[in-house]
Amino acid sequence: MSQDDHQEVFRSVAQAGREAVCALWRRRGDAASLGAAEKHLVKLLEEHDEYREFWEGTKEADENENPFMHLTFHQLLDQQLEADDPPGTCAALERLVARGLDPHKAKHEIIKVLVFDLHNMMMTQREFDAEAYCKKLDALGSGEPT
Ligand SMILES: [Zn+2]
Repeated sequence: MSQDDHQEVFRSVAQAGREAVCALWRRRGDAASLGAAEKHLVKLLEEHDEYREFWEGTKEADENENPFMHLTFHQLLDQQLEADDPPGTCAALERLVARGLDPHKAKHEIIKVLVFDLHNMMMTQREFDAEAYCKKLDALGSGEPT
């Protein structure tokens, strides 16, 4: 597969995700029809009211602003928190919240580290360095308060 093919696949996957998110947003009021994963996603959508136009489908994501990607990272992080895997994920969140950060903002701090490391992994074509990642998590919220 060429680089272009990869991008093509990525775009169509992202598009499918986008349509699913918008469809879910439209029927979020019908709680009885929603599965557990969908309820979780609706909660994430509601926590990101600043992106409402994207959920409603009236604004398109681009390279500069892609709330759908942001959602994906939230979902990934929530899975990691549920399993505390990589280890230290929950402790990092607890430390940040103990510092007075709003839980959503605290998650963003972890997502920043996660995105940076995932990006590095893709750029260098290496495996995810869990050890290095955990060290960075351990450092989150451990230093002097800023
Ligand atoms: Zn967020």
